[in-house]
Amino acid sequence: EFHKSKGQHILKNPLVVQSIVDKAGVKSTDVVLEIGPGTGNLTMKLLERCKKVIAVELDPRMVLELTRRVQGTPYQNQLQIIHGDVMKVALPYFDICVANIPYQISSPLTFKLLSHRPCFRAAVIMYQHEFAMRLVAKAGDPSYSRLAVNTQLLARVHHLLKVGRNNFRPPPKVDSSVVRIEPRNPPPPVNLLEWDGLVRICFGRKNKTLGALFRQGNTLALLEQNYAVAQALHRAADGGEVDLVAAVNRMAMDAEAQLAAAAAAGGGGSDDEMEEGGGEDEEVAAAGGGSARKRRGKASEGFKEQVLEVLERSGLLERRASKMSQDDFLGLLATFNQAGIHFV
Ligand code: SAM
Repeated sequence: EFHKSKGQHILKNPLVVQSIVDKAGVKSTDVVLEIGPGTGNLTMKLLERCKKVIAVELDPRMVLELTRRVQGTPYQNQLQIIHGDVMKVALPYFDICVANIPYQISSPLTFKLLSHRPCFRAAVIMYQHEFAMRLVAKAGDPSYSRLAVNTQLLARVHHLLKVGRNNFRPPPKVDSSVVRIEPRNPPPPVNLLEWDGLVRICFGRKNKTLGALFRQGNTLALLEQNYAVAQALHRAADGGEVDLVAAVNRMAMDAEAQLAAAAAAGGGGSDDEMEEGGGEDEEVAAAGGGSARKRRGKASEGFKEQVLEVLERSGLLERRASKMSQDDFLGLLATFNQAGIHFV
């Protein structure tokens, strides 16, 4: 019996398993991290190719089944099984991650991997097809969103192979796709909290012009407040160093989670909303925005002109997030920061 709640869909087609292992480019010296090995179809193929597999599995019955499967084989000593929830365990060192994961943890797991140190070479992961499309989306694609922009800031991503639902038992309701993720090492020299703040505003309504978004009262009020703090502290142009794990966790959060976290911390929420859905415009959080407006008051006309001047100078006043590239966002952030305008 398989558990739907644990996302247990076993990959049955050996050709697909082989193809994933081939495309992963596993080397004989590699330590491979596998997440959710299940009955071990992928695990056995990986063991043939690498030095060691460390497999993290939540379901004790699967742990037992996999343990039995390698027992008495030459691979027994090459496999280490960690029985636990991959979102809760401390990940070990690994060179490459290969996984057919439960789809409900797609987003948090991807960001957990991206903040893992030391940096690994690549992760080759099976996702729900639509999620995979959102990860690899480029500016102008319908599924382009904060998810794509944030992932692609931290990694190069490529679609490797589409896998139909009938390759699994039991077949899930959706098709799947395997994606290759190569962390950028070193990561781009950008303050991730600043980045997240800017990108949240721009994707608050991804089809609105930046000019319109940055004229919004609550956004301006927030930025003017940050500006005042930065001036008082003589903050460095780039805002300084940040804690990687904390910043990436923040990037992974949707606005609802962010508001909840801010409320728990006793602070205010953000002004915008992260979408986790189908790449539609991100809704503005009425509650968060409203209270922010009350708390922060109104931005001055002078400050508003300063902000619009930066947009004008960057040539992005009339542009929309849905069509802006990684470089557009990086350039805009740098120009804002040089003008003393900060997003944290
Ligand atoms: N890798 C196997 C295959 O390709 O046939 C099974 C893949 S199945 C889609 C997902 C596996 O992840 C299941 O074995 C499930 O028990 C396990 N799993 C679910 N949630 C997990 C979690 N939070 N941490 C670790 N493993 C998990």
